Amino acid sequence: MSQANCLFCKIAAREIEGDIVFESATVVAFRDINPAGPTHILVIPRRHVESAAELTRGDGDELGELFEVVNDLAGKDGLTGGYRIVTNVGDDAGQSVWHLHFHLIGGRSMAWPPG
Ligand code: 5GP
Ligand code: ZN
Repeated sequence: MSQANCLFCKIAAREIEGDIVFESATVVAFRDINPAGPTHILVIPRRHVESAAELTRGDGDELGELFEVVNDLAGKDGLTGGYRIVTNVGDDAGQSVWHLHFHLIGGRSMAWPPG
């Protein structure tokens, strides 16, 4: 998926409607359209990266900021009992949008391993 046709690039650019809960120059977060729990937020780098398979140590600052956002949002949504951070890589994992995103899911107890 090229950047020009990328759904999450378009949401980040506000070209497509999204329930954006945080944005900075580097990171954007918006609520999942099909939530898997009371809280389900997708946190993405503004930069188009297809998946975590492309990440290297050079992306450390960007990822550090992204995880600060994840954890701040978990606090704002009151996820005191814990939460899950998931990123799917590739077809076997069920990745359906080819722009790196971390699912922040919480507000209910969860089973492990996932399906
Ligand atoms: P993946 O399957 O790639 O790990 O996760 C993609 C996620 O994007 C899914 O949880 C799906 O519900 C969500 N999603 C797909 N299309 C849209 C959309 O147009 N807006 C929002 N907010 N979420 C979407
Ligand atoms: Zn993108």
